Amino acid sequence: MDQQNNTLEPHVLMFPIPFQGPVNCFLKLAELLCLSGIHVTFLNTEHIHRPLLRHTQVLSRFSRYPNFKFETIPDGVEHETPVPRDRFMEVMAGVDAVTKPLFREMMVSGRFSWKSERPVTVMIPDAYFSFAVDVAIEASIPVICFETISPCCLWTSYLNLPTLIEAGDVPFEGSDLDQLITSVPGTKYIIRKRDLFSSFRTYDGSNSDIDLIAKEARTILVAQGLILNTFEELDNVVLPHMRKLCPNIYTIGPLHSLHKTKLMANKNPPRQETTYSNSVWKEDKNCMLWLDKHDPKTVIYVSIGSLATMTVEQLLEIWYGVVNSGKPFLWVRRPGSITGGYDESRVPIELLERTKEIGCIVEWAPQEDVLAHRAIGGFLTHSGWNSTMESIVEGVPMVCWPHHADQQMNSRFVGKVWKIGVDMKDTCDRLLVEKAVRNIMDSKHNAITQSTNTWASLAKESITEIGSSSIHLGRLIDDILAMTMSSTLM
Ligand code: UDP
Repeated sequence: MDQQNNTLEPHVLMFPIPFQGPVNCFLKLAELLCLSGIHVTFLNTEHIHRPLLRHTQVLSRFSRYPNFKFETIPDGVEHETPVPRDRFMEVMAGVDAVTKPLFREMMVSGRFSWKSERPVTVMIPDAYFSFAVDVAIEASIPVICFETISPCCLWTSYLNLPTLIEAGDVPFEGSDLDQLITSVPGTKYIIRKRDLFSSFRTYDGSNSDIDLIAKEARTILVAQGLILNTFEELDNVVLPHMRKLCPNIYTIGPLHSLHKTKLMANKNPPRQETTYSNSVWKEDKNCMLWLDKHDPKTVIYVSIGSLATMTVEQLLEIWYGVVNSGKPFLWVRRPGSITGGYDESRVPIELLERTKEIGCIVEWAPQEDVLAHRAIGGFLTHSGWNSTMESIVEGVPMVCWPHHADQQMNSRFVGKVWKIGVDMKDTCDRLLVEKAVRNIMDSKHNAITQSTNTWASLAKESITEIGSSSIHLGRLIDDILAMTMSSTLM
């Protein structure tokens, strides 16, 4: 607080859930806010902060912003490496038991409270952290939620959960996952049961995952705004409906491209880095040299992101499918991502030999750079929302093999709405993989290529100075300043 004129400086507290995708998105938005002169405190739980510092240069990168500060908060999670999806709830239980009370104290009477030297004037938490939104309301701090999952899933499976339950679509009755869901406004002839949030499949009316989804949806509705990593045209099927429930939506995607563009354009402070990596695993950059040796659009990139896993059987089906397609491939095999005891000595020799000839396998790749490389002609993906956005802006067609959460809906929209890929949902068969890879890569002038080009152009337009995402970012910054002003007047 400036004691002389009693004004507050804009100070945003950003608080992502402790996983690769959200931390990456939040850091990008944090840097964009810093560029506009807003003070940002970035609160990471200890468990995710450790690998972030280990594998990136975030500390030196952000040291050029005197208005940026990292803070950490204990979460009671001991793991030194990030956990896979099946331990998601374990991490969240730690947050619930350890982080939650400390956070409240920090905001209500501690170092970010109104009594502190630089109080937080606006909070931007992940909407999953409903406790953070509760604390913001208790401490009279304006709050804008940031959702890093897809708007199509947020609309259909979160904000419409009461509609789905009322219509008898959830819990599922019978076993026909192809049954159309007609109760959700805007997506009437698009979505089937199998496309809804993955936890709905096992929901029997008492599943705690569903309680969490309901809670997150309620949290979004009480915040003053909602930030989404999308651009207006891409989600025009759902955004007009969403705005009826949450009128103040900021669409600022593709966030990684917006971030890169604004940073390149910014001369003060001048850009020194060549990498913007926020990876919580060590990136293997050798794969970029391997890609350099390939002709344009000849390589298929395979990755299932930071949380998904596959069994040894699934690995072999996908491996055979990719190898049999004859396309050179770059495959990310994240440590711990293969379950059920992978043992290379039991892999058929012909697969290993063919892989030596046409494959490159790494533990973690600089994915944004990979997808932007001219050699990449397709992406076999788990359909995580960040991966989907990163692929869309580069015009890379996808073979979707969704795993959990919003990925089922993302792959449906990729295949049916945006028509930029093939949805392999619920199948994992070498013949289908081979066919899908050929399908997206062999056809130079087919409908998929036309759509990927169209969406890539629209994505790029949205981040130009007059593009919708730039305008929404500007509005977000203005609103943060206005919210700070109104806090001062309180
Ligand atoms: N990613 C990466 N290197 C890899 C694999 C993934 O940098 O080898 C990044 C990718 O660029 C994306 C994030 O990890 O930003 C994964 O997020 P997504 O939402 O796609 O999936 P999740 O990991 O949350 O399931």
